[in-house]
Amino acid sequence: MDYDFIVAGGGLVGSSIAYGLARQKYKVAVLDGGDRSFRASRGNFGLVWVQGKGWDYAPYAQWTGQAADLWPQFVAELVNETGVEIDYQRSGGMHFCLNEAEWSEREHEMEMVRQHTGGAFEYEMLDHDRLQQQIPQISNTVLGASYSPQDGHVNPLYLLQALQQGMDVHQVHYYPNQSIDRIEAKQGGYYTHSTEGTLSAGKIVLCAGLDNRRLGEMLGMEIPVVVDRGQIMITERLQPFLNLPTLHVRQTAEGTVQIGYSHEDTGLNDGTSPSVLKKIARRAVLMFPFLARVQLVRAWGALRIMTPDHNPIYQQSADCPGAFTVTCHSGVTLAAMHAGPVAEWIGGSIRLDLINQFSTDRFNVSPG
Ligand SMILES: Cc1cc2nc3c(=O)[nH]c(=O)nc-3n(C[C@H](O)[C@H](O)[C@H](O)COP(=O)(O)OP(=O)(O)OC[C@H]3O[C@@H](n4cnc5c(N)ncnc54)[C@H](O)[C@@H]3O)c2cc1C
Repeated sequence: MDYDFIVAGGGLVGSSIAYGLARQKYKVAVLDGGDRSFRASRGNFGLVWVQGKGWDYAPYAQWTGQAADLWPQFVAELVNETGVEIDYQRSGGMHFCLNEAEWSEREHEMEMVRQHTGGAFEYEMLDHDRLQQQIPQISNTVLGASYSPQDGHVNPLYLLQALQQGMDVHQVHYYPNQSIDRIEAKQGGYYTHSTEGTLSAGKIVLCAGLDNRRLGEMLGMEIPVVVDRGQIMITERLQPFLNLPTLHVRQTAEGTVQIGYSHEDTGLNDGTSPSVLKKIARRAVLMFPFLARVQLVRAWGALRIMTPDHNPIYQQSADCPGAFTVTCHSGVTLAAMHAGPVAEWIGGSIRLDLINQFSTDRFNVSPG
């Protein structure tokens, strides 16, 4: 066999897993698509986000909390190994509520997460006055906000760059523009076929985002992937006014302001639409009226890799042992978990009881 592991896909999920496997001294290859692929890792909002996650599924609330707690050490090691600064800050985060209905829904979700985590998740609901003390520029139309000190943010492009550099440090062979057409299970291993040729490995991890459904079928796994488009716009650089991220508006370390948070079922269309951009811009201006006068410099659409219940899938194929998949949303938030415990679980050096809650069994489909 050419490698111990082939990782299909070199986005944030595949890169985190490959980096984590290579740190365990496995010989790893990453086969990735190219510039025409759908790549959520290059179009996301950069939140390392805990609040609200898993409010309706306790294992996900616990999983996300653990992932966020792993971040400070993960960043220290990644930066130390690669020298790439990734603008990570665990600054806390907020979600603004514009009316009573949003406030009570949010309060309910935050309380559910607290209960699911046995009190490990910390939050406060801030009324308008308390919110304004922290963010003087907030408009009077904002009723209040949920706040958690456990949230943070990062530059997701620098994160991807650091992970790829980390793969290089640990001698991962990265093959760009080598989308896998076909995978064969034979002779106790896995053979990937692409236009560039064939590679083999004892084990394989599918991290190809939206293509995981197709690749999974070749290894007997039914991986239900749901597409969800999000649109984001970005402004010119502004003086600092927002020292923590929010779900809709985030000021980056460079001063630009990211505005986002939309969900659309558009199939495999990662473009933008004026109607949605208008809607997210209007909400941002309701929160910060001065944003109406700033210059927008860019807007884009990107496709989320969702599952039917929005929770991640971690699965080893029953038919093809040694074939795994990691299919998830929130690949930024979960990066520290993927590079650490999940890579060790795939590598076989640790047991992870909580991970069993994320198999495809919950969808009543074939695990392989
Ligand atoms: C608008 C938006 C905002 C988001 N905001 C956040 C956020 O704030 N915080 C957060 O935690 N998450 C966020 N996410 C989610 C996060 O971006 C994703 O969970 C993460 O990027 C998924 O990474 P991935 O590697 O699975 O997928 P991708 O980035 O899509 O990468 C998949 C890779 O697989 C490759 N590939 C595809 N097919 C094949 C094949 N056949 N063979 C080999 N390679 C293949 C592709 O070329 C690609 O590089 C957001 C997503 C979107 C769209």
